[in-house]
Amino acid sequence: MATKLTDLAKQLELSTKELKDKIRKLGFDVGPKAKTIDNDLAELLLDELKPEEEGEADTAEIYGEIVDEQIQREIVKKQRKRTAGKDAVKKEKVDEPVEEKAPQDVVEIADVISVKELAEKSGVKIAKIIGELMKNGILANINQQIDFETAVLILEDMGVKLKKIRGAANVEDIVAGNLEALLKEDDPEESVKRPPVVCVMGHVDHGKTKILDYIRSANVIDTEAGGITQHIAAYQVEKNGRKITFLDTPGHEAFTAMRARGAKVTDVAILVVAADEGVKPQTIEAMDHAKEAGVPIVVAINKIDKPNANVDKVKGELAQYDLQPDDWGGKTVMVPVSAHTGEGIDQLLEMILLTADMEDLKADPKREAVGTVIEAHLDTNFGPVATILVNTGTLSAMDNVCIGSAYGRLKVVRDHTGKNVKQAGPSTPLLIAGLSETPIAGDILQVCKTEKEARLQALNVSTIRKAGKGRASSMDRIISQINAGELNTLKIILKADTKGSLEAIRDSLAKIKSDTVAVKVIHSGVGNVTESDVMMAAASRGLVIGFHVDVPAQVKRTAQREKTDIVIYKIIYELLDNITKLLTGMLEPEIVEVVVGRAEVKQVFLTKKKEMIVGCKVKSGKMSNRVKIRVFRDEKVVGEGEIISLQKGQEIAKEVMEGNDCGIKYQGNVQMQEGDIVEAYKTEEHERTLSSTDDE
Ligand code: GDP
Repeated sequence: MATKLTDLAKQLELSTKELKDKIRKLGFDVGPKAKTIDNDLAELLLDELKPEEEGEADTAEIYGEIVDEQIQREIVKKQRKRTAGKDAVKKEKVDEPVEEKAPQDVVEIADVISVKELAEKSGVKIAKIIGELMKNGILANINQQIDFETAVLILEDMGVKLKKIRGAANVEDIVAGNLEALLKEDDPEESVKRPPVVCVMGHVDHGKTKILDYIRSANVIDTEAGGITQHIAAYQVEKNGRKITFLDTPGHEAFTAMRARGAKVTDVAILVVAADEGVKPQTIEAMDHAKEAGVPIVVAINKIDKPNANVDKVKGELAQYDLQPDDWGGKTVMVPVSAHTGEGIDQLLEMILLTADMEDLKADPKREAVGTVIEAHLDTNFGPVATILVNTGTLSAMDNVCIGSAYGRLKVVRDHTGKNVKQAGPSTPLLIAGLSETPIAGDILQVCKTEKEARLQALNVSTIRKAGKGRASSMDRIISQINAGELNTLKIILKADTKGSLEAIRDSLAKIKSDTVAVKVIHSGVGNVTESDVMMAAASRGLVIGFHVDVPAQVKRTAQREKTDIVIYKIIYELLDNITKLLTGMLEPEIVEVVVGRAEVKQVFLTKKKEMIVGCKVKSGKMSNRVKIRVFRDEKVVGEGEIISLQKGQEIAKEVMEGNDCGIKYQGNVQMQEGDIVEAYKTEEHERTLSSTDDE
């Protein structure tokens, strides 16, 4: 769906070029040849740019366009005087469009603020602010946008204290799921204890679902409003007057998929191990996922009602994996439970609260809400609905929100029992509706002041997401981080065909020496590479390395989608050698030269000292503008340079193909002669990869 630029320009009383300039100033890409733009963007531009008598100044301000020429001149004049050694700033009078007020003590401002607005809010004279800015080497006019830190620097000497109001979050943080950046804005003085968010993990059939069901049925009264049964992917229970939030999607898959998106919502992980079966492959996997995410584990040894249950045996097995039971002097709380009889479940809840206390979980209910999508789907009645978890702040019904590339006004906000709520604070799971599209799990919700702001933020996110489709693979990222000295731990998920080879490789990997980067095997196991391995690597920004194992087609697809590399080896030496090379930065990108084409000089039109214009015939390939060239005479290189302009006939050309004549303007270190051969080439950086014996 697109809108014609010519139509839109007409409505806005602009030329198409002017319109394109405005769009670019708003931060969106629009090519010189573009004829249409996204409907959403068009609508937004209509809102923003529609000519209005009074709105004009505002609109221009949004794009930072107004330059009050008179004031600008004043500033330049002063700057000149200042450089001439006179501090004329304080003495001269500047037009004062702002009514003077007594300076305020504490002033709340956004991340970025114009000088004019800062003066208005703080009561400090514009001239004084501009003068201070100049002293700090910033030449500003009244509409100049300055950041919060600069504003603090300028105003603190004048006794004005600034406090940041949280504006729309940084789009890059939103796209990267960087929740921490948003939560950092919590006011420590306003922060209060919040309920823990718990997820349940463990091997299949060990009773995860049953434990979740038991806790819910024993503690939650289902009161689905209006008879509409809405699935909500999380619920809250109360224990000893305190709340606990449970994510109702058992298994580490959901947990890790969210983490791969960058979201970190879980505070405590319950590792369920059946007392009759003990530690199984997925138990270890779940354990590694939680450990890698830095989430504390509480073990629920389940099915103790079964005759063959053996709690001590399970504890012994867990101890082998570094989970030492607390009653054996270790640090991990292990609670024997039965989801069948309910035995031990109360104690489990108490232990969760105890563990949460040690984590000192806090949030600021007074700020606007930040949340994370746990699950979302399209509902036949409500349209896109999402289960979200409020990470901090308070979310209210009718708030304008942006969630990833979706936005909307929250017309429905329900708690886990299906009851409509007006407001909800930190750690509350909520079902929300009123969104423009279905968000994805892990997307971050943020509250915006107006629907327009929400829409713009969503549009920004979607633009960045589209542009980010071609983001680098994990390997490219790792190589460049190692080469830039930015990586100190290479995280590896290791899969091998036998226990023997797995241990041998793990031991050898531990011995690889590099001054700067350590290898950490965050998960290892026997068997083929699984989706869970890939997701864990994606979430940890690591690599999957396999030895004599397969990668099923579905897993390959997941790896491609998550841009995560899987490297399979068949020879241990090769595996270790490659990892060593990777760690020691020996896999620097290869610079590869690619010949673009050759042309023969037919005529010399103009000769300057380092510049020439020559007429050529393209013999092979093509000549391109702005490429490097080498000049051959009698098959020997006699000089080199660059094509700085290319012509075909009378026209400027980007490239001229084989068989055609062209005019080349060249800069370089040799005077060309008729009969010389011009070889045009370009250089490309090829990332070296870990060579693998799997050549598919
Ligand atoms: P999940 O795959 O980990 O979610 O496991 P489920 O919750 O689906 O449980 C698997 C099977 O174990 C089901 O048949 C449950 O009824 C049974 N089960 C779960 N917990 C207990 C328990 O505490 N005692 C007994 N006897 N059976 C249980």
